[in-house]
Amino acid sequence: MKNDPDRTAAQPLAPSTRLVVGGRRPEEQYGFVNTPVYHGSTVLYPTAEDFRARRSRYKYGRRGTPTSDSLESLLADLEGEACAGVALLPSGLGAISAALLAVLKAGDHLLMTDSAYEPTRHVCDHLLTRWGISTTYYDPLIGAGIEALVRPNTRAVFVESPGSLSFEIQDVPAIAEVAHAHGAAVLMDNTWATPLYFRALDHGVDLSIQAGTKYIGGHSDIMFGCVAANAHYADVLRDTVFSLGLCVGPDDMNLALRGLRTLAVRLPSHFAAGVEVATWLEGRPEVSRVLHPALPSHPGHALWKRDFTGACGLFSIVLKPVPETAVDAFLNAIDLFGIGASWGGYESLAIPFDCSKIRTATTWAPGGPTVRFHIGLEAVGDLIANLDEGFAALNAAAQAG
Ligand SMILES: *Cc1c(COP(=O)(O)O)cnc(C)c1O
Repeated sequence: MKNDPDRTAAQPLAPSTRLVVGGRRPEEQYGFVNTPVYHGSTVLYPTAEDFRARRSRYKYGRRGTPTSDSLESLLADLEGEACAGVALLPSGLGAISAALLAVLKAGDHLLMTDSAYEPTRHVCDHLLTRWGISTTYYDPLIGAGIEALVRPNTRAVFVESPGSLSFEIQDVPAIAEVAHAHGAAVLMDNTWATPLYFRALDHGVDLSIQAGTKYIGGHSDIMFGCVAANAHYADVLRDTVFSLGLCVGPDDMNLALRGLRTLAVRLPSHFAAGVEVATWLEGRPEVSRVLHPALPSHPGHALWKRDFTGACGLFSIVLKPVPETAVDAFLNAIDLFGIGASWGGYESLAIPFDCSKIRTATTWAPGGPTVRFHIGLEAVGDLIANLDEGFAALNAAAQAG
């Protein structure tokens, strides 16, 4: 059959090929290449007997449509053979909350990386606390040392590698080994690498989470999240998302599907341009450190090389000490870089950040102002020329101030 990613072939299909052939059945859609956008709640049954027996491929809009089936199967294909189920959520944070609620119950204990996306901490400190679940934050670089923090009621360990502001690379297999020895689930926010560059489920992760808002969408025009679970957790994940009544609007599912088709083309461009810009920044006298795992200077570079097959366009820099007004002059001068939250779209972004007030298990003291960049799909030469203008503005403001 055409368009079957599981067809027996001389060699397994590469992820980029699977992203093209997976998740669609033209033969069921009058031959049209893409699965249509099914807007629907009610599904009609031909007879009363059929309704009583629920004899129908689709039952109700919330419970799945051809559009959601296409997206789920394409995502499952991308996660690899260990994936036994995918849940679609209306945002990345929704995916994180749903995954946590799937594996935790009152009285349980969670180990959460101190480098986690800040709203993830909010879920732990507020929602989970109210539900009788306690959280201990741990040093992202803890590795197998996490053993010392495991309690008899520890039921889940959450990793995010690298942290999306501070870029520590975690030893996910070592952490997962300890977690599994104690019967705890391993959850990972894998938004940065995506399964193209880090196959989380093959590295000991049980539930792999992505903010699809970022690279899956790829165009800064949707909110979307997903969780992929292995065979141990697929049922409880499905039941939790069903109970919460969460589903994604059909137009956003369609945009997520469209984004996935080009992910394997876009991500290598973000990777190459990101490394080029980061390397150039490393040579600037105004920059004291570049936090990019693919650069040999990064403390997590060896781990990144061991476990990851690429990097996205997101990294940070530490500037040599200058007044905040000089940092703002820099950010205002680089007009090709938008100032705003989120990332993973086709456009470049730059924002100031400060982790020092967020952290509780570790101290964040980088020794200068910090800026996070997302490198988009513009020509690298234009971005570097623009950054050069930015540093001129930074130096002028520093001298004036
Ligand atoms: C953006 C982001 C999220 C949340 O995704 P939303 O779709 O904005 O809810 C989660 N984790 C990371 C690392 C993110 O960057």
